[in-house]
Amino acid sequence: MKANLDVLPLNSWIDTNGKPLIIAGPCSAETEEQVTETVTRIAKEGYAHVIRAGVWKPRTRPGSFEGMGEAALPWLAAVKKETGLPIAVEVATPQHIELALKYGIDILWIGARTTVNPFNVQDLADALKGVDVPVLIKNPVNPDLALWVGAFERIAGAGIKKMAAIHRGFSNAQETKYRNSPMWQLAVELKTLFPQLPIIGDPSHMAGKRAYLYEIAQRALDLNYDGLIIESHRSPDDAWSDASQQLTPEALGEMLRELEVRKASYGEDFQSELDKLRQKIDNIDRELLEVLAARMAVVEKLGEYKRDNNVAVLQLDRWKQVHNSRAEQGKKLNLYPEMVEELFKLIHMESIRKQTEVMNQQPA
Ligand code: PEP
Ligand code: MN
Repeated sequence: MKANLDVLPLNSWIDTNGKPLIIAGPCSAETEEQVTETVTRIAKEGYAHVIRAGVWKPRTRPGSFEGMGEAALPWLAAVKKETGLPIAVEVATPQHIELALKYGIDILWIGARTTVNPFNVQDLADALKGVDVPVLIKNPVNPDLALWVGAFERIAGAGIKKMAAIHRGFSNAQETKYRNSPMWQLAVELKTLFPQLPIIGDPSHMAGKRAYLYEIAQRALDLNYDGLIIESHRSPDDAWSDASQQLTPEALGEMLRELEVRKASYGEDFQSELDKLRQKIDNIDRELLEVLAARMAVVEKLGEYKRDNNVAVLQLDRWKQVHNSRAEQGKKLNLYPEMVEELFKLIHMESIRKQTEVMNQQPA
């Protein structure tokens, strides 16, 4: 994919003193007291550069709490005045944009369920023409990089240059320990495509549970993300939305203090050591590919043999045996079991594809 984006650096529109940008606040603005108390406690902790709060909540099914709407905006305007912290809210319609701006909201974000719909994103872009406001774009709920890229292009088309990506993870087809799969590779691909685009990790919506916030936040910092957006509520268990993933303002402070911020660049000695190790990796990767190619050549022979003897491509017992023995061997080599499993699933899928191809060719 080829794409181009005209974006301003993060520090040209928000001062974080060289530190990762921290956006904190409740999933939803519920009552004036809840907003005031939560934000006052966050401000007292001193880590946040921006306050977040959902005012319009896209809910999967009707009947759940759908946000307080316009009524919540004066509460946010008041805490902004009180603390001096800029406020970010989610917008999903042109009317949301109009109202947010009317109440002095500083930063807008487009939610994961909106990014999926190009008509919807274009409506927002049209409403943003001529407006100078930062826009953060969450990844679409489905792992489709082009859809995420397209949303940036549409918003950029409206003349917005203050943009950042929020990586909030992707819907799971299978049950996993996280509410949404991080699929880090997709965010890395976005970053590769738009190196100048700031990227913010959203551990809250990936984790779904407090217990996993720290490991995800650290992972984002290890990948040199520009910031984190994390939900915080005065009394998380009583939250009207996303109760199990929110932290008190103080617990969030504690967690943030535990995180290690990695350096983006390094000195000369480090660079030459790094180069040496990378060269080793380059060589090993070449060998890995050669080994894979050799394996595929055997697979092709096997395919021909099966074809000539009219035997089915897939033999379940054999696959089970491959699966189990590779898992065992991997374990002995101290390889991460899930990696070995995924790797052999892929290799096996490719073997089946290759053999099916051979099966449908005429013998030479
Ligand atoms: C949120 O930030 O509260 C939210 C609704 O997030 P997402 O769009 O990522 O689901
Ligand atoms: Mn939420």
